Amino acid sequence: MDIYKLLNCLNKQQRTAVSAPRGHFLVLAGAGSGKTRVLVHRIAWLLDVEKCSEKSIMAVTFTTKASKEMRDRLDKLMGIPKENIWIGTFHSLSYRLLCSHYLQAGLPKNFQILDSDDQHRLLQRLMKCKNLDSKKWSISKIVGYINHKKEKGLRPKDITSYNSLTEKTWIGLYKIYQDVCDRSGLVDFSELLLRAYELLRDQSHIRDYYQKRFTNILVDEFQDTNDIQYKWIRILSGTCSKVVIVGDDDQSIYGWRGAQAENIQRFIQDFSGAVTIRLEQNYRSQNNILDAANALISYNNIRLGKQLWTEERNGDPISIYCALDELDEARFVVRSLQAWIEQGRLLGECVILYRVNIQAGVLEEILLEKNIPYQLHNGTHFFQRKEIKDLLSYLRLIVNRNDDAAFERVINTPLRRIGVHTLDCIRQVSSDYNITLWQSSQEILKQGGLIGNMASSYLEGFILLVDRLDKITKALPLDLQTQRILQDTGLWAMYRDKKQEMDQSRIAHLEEFINLAQKYSSSRHMHSKTTLLQDFLSDILIDMGEVNNSNKRKDAVQLMTLHASKGLEFSQVFIVGMEEGIFPSQASLDNGGGYLEEERRLAYVGITRAMQRLTLTHAKKRRLYGQEVSYMPSRFISELPDHCVKKISCNTRANWSFHNKNIEFPFINKESFFTVGQSVNHTKFGKGTIINVIGFGKDRRIQVEFYNQDIRWLFAVYARLSVQ
Ligand code: ATP
Ligand code: MG
Repeated sequence: MDIYKLLNCLNKQQRTAVSAPRGHFLVLAGAGSGKTRVLVHRIAWLLDVEKCSEKSIMAVTFTTKASKEMRDRLDKLMGIPKENIWIGTFHSLSYRLLCSHYLQAGLPKNFQILDSDDQHRLLQRLMKCKNLDSKKWSISKIVGYINHKKEKGLRPKDITSYNSLTEKTWIGLYKIYQDVCDRSGLVDFSELLLRAYELLRDQSHIRDYYQKRFTNILVDEFQDTNDIQYKWIRILSGTCSKVVIVGDDDQSIYGWRGAQAENIQRFIQDFSGAVTIRLEQNYRSQNNILDAANALISYNNIRLGKQLWTEERNGDPISIYCALDELDEARFVVRSLQAWIEQGRLLGECVILYRVNIQAGVLEEILLEKNIPYQLHNGTHFFQRKEIKDLLSYLRLIVNRNDDAAFERVINTPLRRIGVHTLDCIRQVSSDYNITLWQSSQEILKQGGLIGNMASSYLEGFILLVDRLDKITKALPLDLQTQRILQDTGLWAMYRDKKQEMDQSRIAHLEEFINLAQKYSSSRHMHSKTTLLQDFLSDILIDMGEVNNSNKRKDAVQLMTLHASKGLEFSQVFIVGMEEGIFPSQASLDNGGGYLEEERRLAYVGITRAMQRLTLTHAKKRRLYGQEVSYMPSRFISELPDHCVKKISCNTRANWSFHNKNIEFPFINKESFFTVGQSVNHTKFGKGTIINVIGFGKDRRIQVEFYNQDIRWLFAVYARLSVQ
């Protein structure tokens, strides 16, 4: 390869980083300054100039999409694929290591990955076995605890002390959970990393082999490494390897998952002789976008500090749109996309970013309505969501009792004490006699005695329920039929009684489904031979197929969370839901300080994805989690300099003022009411007593001890508190 080609398209600092003699390097630089480009060119340099073998190189990134992108960029630069280089995420590379050495890692050959949904399910089951009330014990907290310990490299036996009886129970559950996973050959996401780390730590011949092999390790997005990832890199690098890390402290957005931007400092200490190189020119964004990003991030206190500049022209100002509600917001975005296509541009150049996955629902609806192809990342398609799949399975079973997949899914959802033995028996009879699961269940009930009296009555209960629902809902309109099924099967209660955020969103999805059913039945005339329900179901299935097909089509607008957008770039970016309580999130408002700074870094990541055009939208009111709430515009909007932004008015509707930097916050006058000793009620945390009050004005913070023994600091102006 032509060495000039390799270096010519780089600036001076980039060239220094790429062509330096082999050694440890830290490239510390802001968004869009070419960090990933440096990494890719460095790999090419190592191959071509340093004559390193492909096998000696490992490059680590954070998302699958980013690792694919890195491989593509390298293949393009080199002209031929370099398949022997290990390029992947921490998880995929750990998986690869474990597959190669499953025996030494104590795993069966066919070990399976346990996704987080399954992880929740498994723990739920184990808690039940241990007679722990899932209403009292939050599964999310236990999952969080286990994952956190794994990320710290700790096994149950390593946790020798605990701070409370609660933690003691968690440790016990961690142990049981791990035993079950080990017995069943299941590996959760955190386990992948920990297992791979332990493999290298405990098996010296394997460690020696990889330490000698990977003499060049390169890590992208290093600011988001957590403890175990850092240890993983450290042990793999040994004494022979040269490590290049690139990162940006301003883009550290996984603190909540244990990432430590301090790992950057740790690297400088641990890898002696590491040289720091800074890049300051941004090549991605036009000037207005860059100015806005620089201004926004300057509001953060905890920074290593850097300023980016660009030779690019100012470009369009950042558009800010105030929508009436989430529908108006989605329609505005879709209209803008249509205008973009009319200008001859591609949809694939555009991305819509949001804070939480649930915000995608309404966007999807309008995109589908207007026939705009889209691709959803990291989220689940509406009809593939668990709660919707549960409901659909009941509907399918009502239409066709012989639908085995639907039968398997709902026979014990919600739990109705139909045990593994009964299920095994049903499966056995079904395969012995070549009949469906439904028929097999009926056969078993007819024969009696096969599964015992109690088990028979539970199974019979299920069969009767489905038959009865079929009979009594047949004549009902589709939406009422769905509602009745949700109620009588217990699905509705199952999600309603769980108080976690995820379950609230599930209820909202089920409500959305009912709306859909209602719209569908009002737009259809009954076909003669099929029922409306049958039509509805087959339309949904076709729709799923189409959406999947359209995903394969290249030109589609991308939809993803802000977190998932890290490292990517798009000509046009929309960030929707820029409202206090959504972005920044309510949790970050309640906790303030570092949490709020992490949200701001996330906004910085979102803004710096844009190359040419950036649009921020917020709605005056929004329906989320089944409730309609009015929100104030995000403070991040008011932190953007006036000269970079342009307000888009929606016809004659009055807009809120964005240019006023001292936005009035809704709860600002409340602060004077709060005093120590007062009893208060928080919309999320419940009742509690104020035990401390500090600061003034917008910075006033109060400390509350809640009845569930949680003690929290809250910002007085935002806290959703009422005085008792
Ligand atoms: P992020 O922090 O978002 O991950 P980054 O620092 O990794 O960004 P890159 O993605 O490597 O930045 O580069 C941003 C864009 O700028 C890319 O389109 C890249 O091709 C381009 N670019 C980088 N350096 C140069 C250069 N010297 N000349 C021209 N274009 C460049
Ligand atoms: Mg990058």
